[in-house]
Amino acid sequence: MNGHFASNEAATPEQYEHGVQVIDEDKTFNSKLGTYLAIENIIPAGFNYHLISVFGSQSTGKSTLLNHLFGTQFGVMSEEERKQTTKGIWLSKNKKDGAKDNSNQRSMAENILVMDVEGTDGRERGEDQDFERKAALFALATSEVLIVNIWEHQVGLYQGANMGLLKTVFEVNLQLFVKDRESIPRSLLFFVIRDHLGHTPLANLRNTLLQDLSRLWSTINKPPGLEISTIDDYFDFAFVALPHKILQPDAFVASIDKLGKRFKEGYKDPNKSQPKFLENEDEPILLPQYHRRIPADGFPIYAQSVWDQINSNKDLDLPTQQELLAQFRCDEISREVLEEFDEVIMPFERKQAEGARVGTPVVVSDLGKGINKARATTIASFTEKASRYHKGVFARKTVELEDKIDSRLKVLVKGQLDAAHRDSIRGFSEGVSQEVKLNQKKGGVYDFAEIVDNKKQAALELFVSVATATAIEGADWSSFDEELVLLKKELDDASKRLRGEEMRRLATRVERWVKSRVGEAVGLEFNKLGSGRGGSGAPAEGEKPADERDLWDRVWKTFVDIVAHAESRFSDRAKSFDASPEEVEVGLWRLRRKSWGVLQDKIEEELMEGNLLLKLRENFEDKFRYDDEGVPRIWRPTDDIEGLYTRARESTLTLIPLLARFKLLATNSPPPLEEWIGNAPQAMTPADEEDLAPIGGVDEEEGTSLEEEMTVLSDVKIQDLTVRFKKTADGVYVEAKRSAIGGITQ
Ligand code: GDP
Ligand code: MG
Repeated sequence: MNGHFASNEAATPEQYEHGVQVIDEDKTFNSKLGTYLAIENIIPAGFNYHLISVFGSQSTGKSTLLNHLFGTQFGVMSEEERKQTTKGIWLSKNKKDGAKDNSNQRSMAENILVMDVEGTDGRERGEDQDFERKAALFALATSEVLIVNIWEHQVGLYQGANMGLLKTVFEVNLQLFVKDRESIPRSLLFFVIRDHLGHTPLANLRNTLLQDLSRLWSTINKPPGLEISTIDDYFDFAFVALPHKILQPDAFVASIDKLGKRFKEGYKDPNKSQPKFLENEDEPILLPQYHRRIPADGFPIYAQSVWDQINSNKDLDLPTQQELLAQFRCDEISREVLEEFDEVIMPFERKQAEGARVGTPVVVSDLGKGINKARATTIASFTEKASRYHKGVFARKTVELEDKIDSRLKVLVKGQLDAAHRDSIRGFSEGVSQEVKLNQKKGGVYDFAEIVDNKKQAALELFVSVATATAIEGADWSSFDEELVLLKKELDDASKRLRGEEMRRLATRVERWVKSRVGEAVGLEFNKLGSGRGGSGAPAEGEKPADERDLWDRVWKTFVDIVAHAESRFSDRAKSFDASPEEVEVGLWRLRRKSWGVLQDKIEEELMEGNLLLKLRENFEDKFRYDDEGVPRIWRPTDDIEGLYTRARESTLTLIPLLARFKLLATNSPPPLEEWIGNAPQAMTPADEEDLAPIGGVDEEEGTSLEEEMTVLSDVKIQDLTVRFKKTADGVYVEAKRSAIGGITQ
């Protein structure tokens, strides 16, 4: 509080026993005015203070009057040495501030400040007139009530020093009004007539004075536009007469007591536009319309800058002065409240900066509560002090302050939202993965879509709860709608990514299944080759011997059936977790391609050279060594071994070109691979293609034809196999021949 007025040196009330000399005899403004007002506890008073000045010729008992009225200790001329004591302008707080009347009410208004203005001695002195004029202007610019102190015997002396002084007052007053007719407050001219003997009633004295004042008014030069104005346009009047202090000391004191009670706050009478003069001798004189409306904490600066203008003979423009004051004070108050704001905000900023430094933005707990309170408190305490100043300036400075506060808070709020955003996304991805793992461990079928939905909901709730708690009340910028939209979008992206991963996992499972099924079922078809009649060994009862020529048809059908089954498993499952039709389409397309690879691998495995030779040999032996009933032959020399051998060998030899090409019997052409795989789906991304092996005849850019893709054995291989098989068959034949002969020998 009041940092501006805190003084390094310990200021004590004792130092200011006589008040403070606001303007000294060299017309210098005293920068300690603020210190004095702080000591007297006026600074925090807002508008709850009053300023009263006393004017009059030298040695008319002004200081004496003030000291009696307000318990002040202004310097008073001693009875012996008759020389001027009050130099410049002094100011003191009413020392009877706490005085109570009979009914225990305050007998005077709170926080009355009185200014004792050096008087002129009536002689014509250029120097004096300059000061008198400046002092009058200063007093008028600041004071609600101007006490004009005159001896009774001076009343009616139109040419007296007092009239000169009043003329000055009127002139400078008009100067002020030229600048602003609207907002300059009226003043009360309070005539205190001293040494009133009582012969002339106060009412007469008053009439005389009012006549003189009107006459005086008519003689002064009025600025353009104000020529026809009357004295009543600017001043209200009040009159009081005091008995002789020395001749009637008791009456003097009693009158002073009575007078003191008039320094109370009165009320503006809405029925009377202006009071003109306060007739009633008990009437309070501190009417609200006289108040200069300078907040107490701004008064020292205002007074100083008003005096600077006056003293350097510049035009005094009070509205401008008040605006400048408002700017200065509002800035000062703003700095003060921002310091307190800083203290609350900085720990939050540090926490955020710490998080950012280690690369993990953190949601700072209680941030919202903290910053809302800080903002509200800061603006409230600014408003409390600064709203007393010029309304326009105050409004502008409030906006400036809010901007300053909000620019700091925006960073904090953004940091908080960013952290919450991060937490939400991370929590979502981790949550889904964990849940999936947990379910997998349990081995159960889980609803991936439901897991994603639940975790997404939780993530959104987390964000909204942080964001709501961080929202700034009354700040239109602090809505988080956009951020929420962004988060939703990112969560959708993350869901899509997670679903993609889940699809891959599903695809892997399905592919594994295809592999094992193809391995079994296709292996079975190839094994049938081992039996010349299509079965492994003898066909079971009732089973029709398989035709070797439709081997590929069976392989293809088996394969296509397995994949069709896999496809329906895949799409059922994928749909269950909300995969889009496009995503499913891509998955199926990939599955078919991969399955084709699986089949190729299986075929390659089955037809590896060693396997193939073995199969050919088995096929041949089955045809050669078993009769049509499947009974092994016992070779006799009479048997047509050669004929049987030749037929069996030729039959088996037809298998080699058959196996060499994947070709369907029905069409005598390769299976419709391209058709079966289908066109690449529109929705496919490069990532979906990355791990796919090219397929000849399907992928154009591959450069190999479908024929080539379907070639299992090369021509060279065929030659080689034929030669090697014949040799094997020959061996079997020789052995048969030998056993036939041996059978005879035995
Ligand atoms: P200032 O120059 O107007 O401030 O006058 P002072 O208060 O210093 O008083 C000047 C002289 O007038 C002092 O000697 C006072 O004792 C005397 N004095 C003060 N009040 C009165 C009064 O009411 N009547 C008379 N006759 N003398 C007074
Ligand atoms: Mg004096």
